[in-house]
Amino acid sequence: MSVPASVFEHPAFDNHEKVLFATDPATGLQAILAVHSTVRGPGVGGCRMWAYESSADAVTDVLRLSQGMSYKNIMADLPIGGGKSVIIKPKGDFDRDALFQAFGRAVDSLGGHYISAEDVGVSPADMLSARRTTRHVVGLPDGTGDPSPVTAKGVFLGIQLVAEKALGKSSLAGVRIAVQGATGHVGSYLCEHLAKAGAELTLTDIHEDTLQALAKKLGAKTVGKDDIYDVEADIFAPCALGSIINEKTIDRLKVRAVAGAANNQLATREMGAELMKRNIAYAPDYVINAGGIINIMGEIDARFDKKWVEGKLQGLKSTLGEILDTAENEGRPANLIADEIARQRIEDARAGNLQAAE
Ligand code: NAD
Repeated sequence: MSVPASVFEHPAFDNHEKVLFATDPATGLQAILAVHSTVRGPGVGGCRMWAYESSADAVTDVLRLSQGMSYKNIMADLPIGGGKSVIIKPKGDFDRDALFQAFGRAVDSLGGHYISAEDVGVSPADMLSARRTTRHVVGLPDGTGDPSPVTAKGVFLGIQLVAEKALGKSSLAGVRIAVQGATGHVGSYLCEHLAKAGAELTLTDIHEDTLQALAKKLGAKTVGKDDIYDVEADIFAPCALGSIINEKTIDRLKVRAVAGAANNQLATREMGAELMKRNIAYAPDYVINAGGIINIMGEIDARFDKKWVEGKLQGLKSTLGEILDTAENEGRPANLIADEIARQRIEDARAGNLQAAE
């Protein structure tokens, strides 16, 4: 019988500050809460509920996701750290309200070191349930609202920059962009921005009717969901699933750049080097898609108003520019450069050398 790696020896363990295993037999709660880093403030990141095949899979996910949030938050220069939580979805019927109240108690036991929001499988209504037992939750229905338009705006600014750096285009007019997940929360707002800027769009989604309606409205072409990787375009914007740049898809890509909203676009870190070998620029996902977490800051502190959010989005664009320039100048993959900068900033913050963000 193989024994799953324990947390400290786990390949994804990166000196996470806290990992809490929380159970509540009365509601069926089995959750893991991981705080990767609080050097810049409380660890903030969503709660994901998923039918994990094993608790080992849940541990792997929460360790990786919470580290990713630290990277995302520090790259956006936010005064927060990184954390994430996962709930192993109970089998059969369960009382959702009671489950999330139990989850809230687990969050509360961390005394504000972790602040939760929603992620895959969790809704703003679930956060309201958790709010009954802890104040350390954000993303509430009466809070800063849907983060997707702000995420889309950040991705749009990033795509403009990628067009400039990788294609030498100062405008998106006539730039051919293939969007995966076009009718999704982020995808649909992004497509509106891109169409308005004059981009030539090819769209795909699994929701065929909504896709056709969107394409008609924006004057875009559509392709089947499995054909998006073969589209001859300038930029591929993944806005649906993770791990879509993988050994099976990479040789099909006929684009000059990949820049989109989806989390964890690269199936492995090595895919960054594979893109570079094929002369395809890559906008690291956690840099370009940080608009949503930036927007949520308004629920953490009233100083973070709309004007502040707008300034932060412009900041994302310049950070992305520095990463792409370094990648070009040093001939190294952009994803590794982003990881290095993020790690260095966390180390600097730990050593007290990084000024607190405003
Ligand atoms: P969403 O569920 O609203 O949209 C995803 C879209 O992808 C849906 O329309 C879905 O039908 C489509 N889709 C699913 N499988 C597909 C497939 N095989 N081929 C084509 N389309 C497919 O989610 P969202 O909130 O728009 O998020 C999109 C991505 O961006 C996710 O990876 C998410 O983690 C990431 N992200 C979102 C935000 C945000 O603010 N919502 C912030 C950061 C990152």
